[in-house]
Amino acid sequence: MNASKGNETTKLRVLGLDRQALEQQCVDWGQKPFRARQLLRWIHQRGVDDFAAMTDLAHDLRRLLDARACIEAPAVLADHESADGTRKWLLDVGAGNAVEAVFIPETDRGTLCVSTQAGCAVNCVFCSTGKQGFARNLRADEIVAQVWHAKRSLGHATDSGQGCGESRVITNVVFMGMGEPLQNYAATLTALRLLLDDHAYGLSRRRVTVSTSGVVPMIDRLREDCPVALAVSLHAPDDALRDRLVPLNRKYPLAELMSACRRYLERAPRDFVTFEYVMLDGVNDSDAHAEALLGCVRGVPCKFNLIPFNPFPNSGLRRSPDERIRAFAQRLVDAGIVTTVRRTRGDDIDAACGQLAGEVQDRTRLREREKRLRLAQEGRVRVVERTH
Ligand code: SAH
Ligand code: SF4
Repeated sequence: MNASKGNETTKLRVLGLDRQALEQQCVDWGQKPFRARQLLRWIHQRGVDDFAAMTDLAHDLRRLLDARACIEAPAVLADHESADGTRKWLLDVGAGNAVEAVFIPETDRGTLCVSTQAGCAVNCVFCSTGKQGFARNLRADEIVAQVWHAKRSLGHATDSGQGCGESRVITNVVFMGMGEPLQNYAATLTALRLLLDDHAYGLSRRRVTVSTSGVVPMIDRLREDCPVALAVSLHAPDDALRDRLVPLNRKYPLAELMSACRRYLERAPRDFVTFEYVMLDGVNDSDAHAEALLGCVRGVPCKFNLIPFNPFPNSGLRRSPDERIRAFAQRLVDAGIVTTVRRTRGDDIDAACGQLAGEVQDRTRLREREKRLRLAQEGRVRVVERTH
C-alpha cells in the first residue's frame, strides 16, 4: 500500500507518471496535452499536493483530478538529521517494509540518495540491504516521492534558517540507496525521466547517477533509453573474488561487465565510469588486488571511488585501516586513475552506504516506529526525530 490516506489508493498516483504518460492521461480525460506540463510544474517544482490549489487549471479539471487522481508520498516513519547535516527519511512502503532516502549537503551541491527496492535480491556479502533479502520493487511513484518529499522538507528547513552554509537544494540525485535499480528497470526509468524533465526537476544527465552491481543487459538498455552518469560497484579485481562478494558476477562476469561499460560510454553524459570499491580488511585491499584491478579496468576510462566498509551487526567483515586505503588509492593514482576515498557521512544515524535501513531489519524497532506513527496520526506524539 502506498500512502497514509488508505482511501486514496485506488486513485491514479500522479507522482509516478512521466510527461509522456501524463500527456496521454490528459488526452484520455478529454484535456489538452499541455495540461500535463502545468501539472508537472505544480507537483514537482512547487511541491503542491492539492489539486484545488492549482489556480491556472479550470475548476472542472481540478474537480476531475481530485476525484480520480492523487499526489501522495509514502508516510514518513522517521526523519533524522545527523550532526554533520546529513538527513535521512525512513518511508513506510507497507507490509512492514520501509525504505530510506538520504540527503547529503555539501558546500557546492546537495545530493539525494534514493532507494529503488525494499531489500535487494543481489545479496552482496558486505551489504545490510542485501542481507535483508528481497521484499519488492518500488513503484515509480514511490521512487519519485523520495525526491518530491525531500525537496519539500528541505525547503521548509531553509525557511527555518537551518543549513549552516551548506546547500539545502537538491542538485544531484544518486540511485545508491536500497536496492538494485537495474533490477527494477521500468520504475527507475520513469523516475529518471522526471528528474531530467525541465517541467519537473530539470536536472542535467551529468548530475543523476545510477549505481549498479552490474546487470549487463540493463546497462545496455539504459544506454539506449536514458543515458545518465553510471557508477558500477566493482569491489573485486577477478571473477573468483567477485563471485563471492557480488553473487550477480556469476551471471555477468567481469569481462562482460567491462565491455558493457565501454559500450555505455559511447552514449554517456560523462566520459568515464565511476567504479565503486568497498574496502574490506584482508579481503580485497592488498597491493596485489590494486595491481590486478588496473589490469581488469584497462581500456575503460574510469574514476575510482573507494568506500571504507560501513560495518553492521554480524557482518563478519572489517573496514580496511586508513593507511591501507591510502596505499591502495595511491597505486591507482600512480597509474593515472583519479581516485577518491568516500568520506563517511551520516554514520551516526546509520545513513552511510550499506547501512540503510539497518533498523528495518530490526523488526522490533520498526514495529515500535509504526506504533509511534499511529499515535502521531492520532495527534498524540511527534514523529520527527532529530539525533543531534
Ligand atoms: N545496488 C546498487 C546501488 C545501491 S548500493 C549497487 O550495488 O551499486 C550503493 C553502494 O553502496 C554500492 O557501491 C555498494 O557496494 C555500497 N555498499 C553496500 N554496502 C556497503 C557497506 N556496508 N559499506 C560500504 N559500502 C557499501
Ligand atoms: Fe543490492 Fe547494491 Fe546491496 Fe549489492 S550492494 S546487495 S546490489 S543494494
